[in-house]
Amino acid sequence: MAGTLYVVSTPIGNLEDITHRAVRVLSEVGLIACEDTRHTRKLLNHYGIKTMTVSYHEHNERERAVELLESLESGLDVAIVSDAGTPGISDPGFRIVRLALENGVPVVPVPGPTALISALVASGLPSDEFFFAGFLPARSGQRRTRLLELSSIPATLVFYEAPHRIAGSLRDAREILGEREAVIARELTKLHEEILRGRLSELGQRFSSGEEGRGEMVLLIDRNVIEGAARESDASEISSIVVALEAEGVDARSALKKAARKLGISRDEAYRRLTAERSREKG
Ligand code: SAM
Repeated sequence: MAGTLYVVSTPIGNLEDITHRAVRVLSEVGLIACEDTRHTRKLLNHYGIKTMTVSYHEHNERERAVELLESLESGLDVAIVSDAGTPGISDPGFRIVRLALENGVPVVPVPGPTALISALVASGLPSDEFFFAGFLPARSGQRRTRLLELSSIPATLVFYEAPHRIAGSLRDAREILGEREAVIARELTKLHEEILRGRLSELGQRFSSGEEGRGEMVLLIDRNVIEGAARESDASEISSIVVALEAEGVDARSALKKAARKLGISRDEAYRRLTAERSREKG
């Protein structure tokens, strides 16, 4: 009989945020595969869990998944955990789950914290439909292209973000998505938990100094453009959209056509606005 692979959620900051079931499963399995064994050991010590651990992270995921499968096939129950929250959510986990399922090994989730859900439910933005897009690309050109792809999704957009990139992401989001309500949820469940709400431009100003970019954070953006603000910004918006597309290798004609379609205006009108914007920039 093969063992079972348990996908176990652990705290995202506050050690109390772990279920009774997670503690029991972590105590009873034969092996815990951790992103960072030293990090997880602190949690295990806190709950008096003595189970053996092994590392399973993005650099050894492929080989380690095969070894874990062998353990599972020999009958050992294995739990997988990440440094924080739910494995497989912007963290390793997917590969071993796939491999286990392909080989007939049962996979059982042990649910618990994940930063995106905690952020969403406290954000005050609609939670009926949301789109989790993980981390945005680090480089501005690719980030803008990605934002453009996401711009027409009728759902709250949720991103994980690094402190040193938040100012750039807010600036690009404001330019590509237009003015929208946004929320930054940082250090959730920790001592300095803070939930900041405002327009993209307001949050952008706050973070552009760089001083505020500390801690772990989730960025959430409303699905709707704020009406009046959208009109004020149409001109700069079209230029940003065209620049983002051109940076990805789209030729000037097609970039203008796509930008016009996105803004719901004719190509002539798009061209007129773009020219006006560019001559303003030059003058
Ligand atoms: N697997 C994790 C989960 O289920 O949330 C996410 C891991 S991902 C590598 C780390 C990112 O999650 C951080 O950069 C941040 O965006 C977000 N995050 C994790 N803990 C957080 C917290 N306590 N407060 C806010 N964001 C957090």
